[in-house]
Amino acid sequence: MAGMYDRINRKIDYMRISVTDRCNMRCVYCMPLDGVRGLDHEDILSYEEILRIAHVAATLGISKIRLTGGEPLIRKGLTGFIRQLAALDGIEDLSLTTNGTLLEAKAGELADAGVTRINVSLDSLNPERFRELTRGGELEKVMRGIEKAEALGFVPIKLNMVPVRGINDDEIEAFARLTLEKPYHVRFIEFMPIGDRKMWDESKVVPTSEVRARIEALGDLSPVENPGVKGPATLFRLPGAKGIIGFISPVSDHFCGSCNRLRLTADGKLRPCLFSESEIDLKTSMRAGCDDDELARLMVVALNVKPEGHNMADGVKKSYGRTMSKIGG
Ligand code: SAM
Ligand code: SF4
Repeated sequence: MAGMYDRINRKIDYMRISVTDRCNMRCVYCMPLDGVRGLDHEDILSYEEILRIAHVAATLGISKIRLTGGEPLIRKGLTGFIRQLAALDGIEDLSLTTNGTLLEAKAGELADAGVTRINVSLDSLNPERFRELTRGGELEKVMRGIEKAEALGFVPIKLNMVPVRGINDDEIEAFARLTLEKPYHVRFIEFMPIGDRKMWDESKVVPTSEVRARIEALGDLSPVENPGVKGPATLFRLPGAKGIIGFISPVSDHFCGSCNRLRLTADGKLRPCLFSESEIDLKTSMRAGCDDDELARLMVVALNVKPEGHNMADGVKKSYGRTMSKIGG
């Protein structure tokens, strides 16, 4: 397969697909208290439409797909859809990002359907705080989901933690210590200016340099080669740890030079960069009857407008219109 390259020769082989903008939680940094207005049912891509887009993308060179949302596990019929997605020619890696609330019930069917890797977002190990942070989430349930996924052999299980100053940054060390006992990849992700503008300000970002320094007080961090699919995390291990610690630094040290992804929103917009508002509307063209060649052409247009980089670190004067739940985080 020739592969797909953008105008600065980055190989684009990864698509994140948001299957819904809805969520069963309301994390304080992701959604405003009163939620965000959900898309109307008819505005959401059907599974058939997503499969068609994935098929055309695979013919162009996309080989890895991650399903996300909103909360992907709340969409009805997901498992059947995943089975069809996994069967598409050219799709070699199918993963999923979830808040974990429905994982205990669904991990088995996800494995059967062809999901190979699962990321769980987890921002507190304290049940009370978890409830506050997610506005109602039950930590126990998520932990049982993670254990179920582990028992089913999902490897590695990645836990994504967004430290927000004054909210959960006092748990950085506890999350790092989790890797001493468990084979998880615990990844610390910088808080980005996306979503509720009232929530984000620069002082709440805990930069990777600070997270790292705090973890180094627990023990030396040795670099680890990325064992699997390459991603934006830089990886380390504490002495004797079973798991791995990762740092993802979109604010302080963006990784645009090696960005390999496109995003498909639940309402059918192809988004070449998380931090750029440009979107290519695939849904409208598909519903107007375009053929697969035209769909492929639109994907190439998205590649051509993919920015070289973003400059979020410059004071981040703007926040980005859609929340992560709307873009597909
Ligand atoms: N609901 C699923 C979940 O929480 O894993 C999938 C969608 S969620 C939008 C994907 C990821 O986006 C989560 O790991 C969440 O922590 C992250 N996220 C949301 N808003 C963010 C922000 N402003 N900065 C950094 N990460 C954010
Ligand atoms: Fe829902 Fe995920 Fe956003 Fe939390 S981070 S509100 S779980 S979409």
